[in-house]
Amino acid sequence: LERTFSIIKPDATRRNLTGKINAKFEDAGLRIVAQKRILMTKAQAGEFYGVHKDRPFYDELCEFMSSGPVVVQVLEGENAIAKNREVMGATNPADAAAGTVRADFAESVGENSVHGSDAPETAAVEIAYFFAGTELV
Ligand code: ATP
Ligand code: MG
Repeated sequence: LERTFSIIKPDATRRNLTGKINAKFEDAGLRIVAQKRILMTKAQAGEFYGVHKDRPFYDELCEFMSSGPVVVQVLEGENAIAKNREVMGATNPADAAAGTVRADFAESVGENSVHGSDAPETAAVEIAYFFAGTELV
C-alpha cells in the first residue's frame, strides 16, 4: 500500500467541509491513517511550498495557507498518490471533473480546498514534515 500527504485548506475548513471531503477520500478507498488540525504560520507555509517560491502566486499562497486552520493528513491505499489526485480534480476548479473535491468545493485556482503530494519522493518529505512515524496508525 502507498501513502500520500494531504491538506484540507483554509477555504474548506472555514466552510466546515472537512467531513464531506474526507467522505470522498474514504469512498475512493483511501484510509486516513493520520490526521490533525493545525494553524500554520506564514513562514511554515513558505517552507512547505518552497518549490513554488519563484512563482508569481507564492506570497498569496503562503498568506492563504496561514489564513486559517488546515487539516493535515496521511492517506493510505492502492496507488494512493494518483488516486488522491484523481479525487482532488484539476488545480483550477473550472477544469476539474464532475464529482471531484475541487469541482464540488473549490472557490478559485488558489483557494482550491485541498493539497495532495505529486510523487512518492514528495509524499515522503511532506509526511515527515508534519508527522512522526509513530503517529501513522
Ligand atoms: P497542490 O500542490 O496544492 O496539491 P497542484 O499540484 O494541483 O496543487 P500546483 O501547481 O502544485 O497545484 O500549485 C500549488 C498550489 O498553488 C495550488 O494548489 C494552488 O493553491 C496555488 N496556485 C497554483 N496556481 C495558482 C495561480 N495561478 N494563482 C493562484 N494560486 C495558484
Ligand atoms: Mg502541487
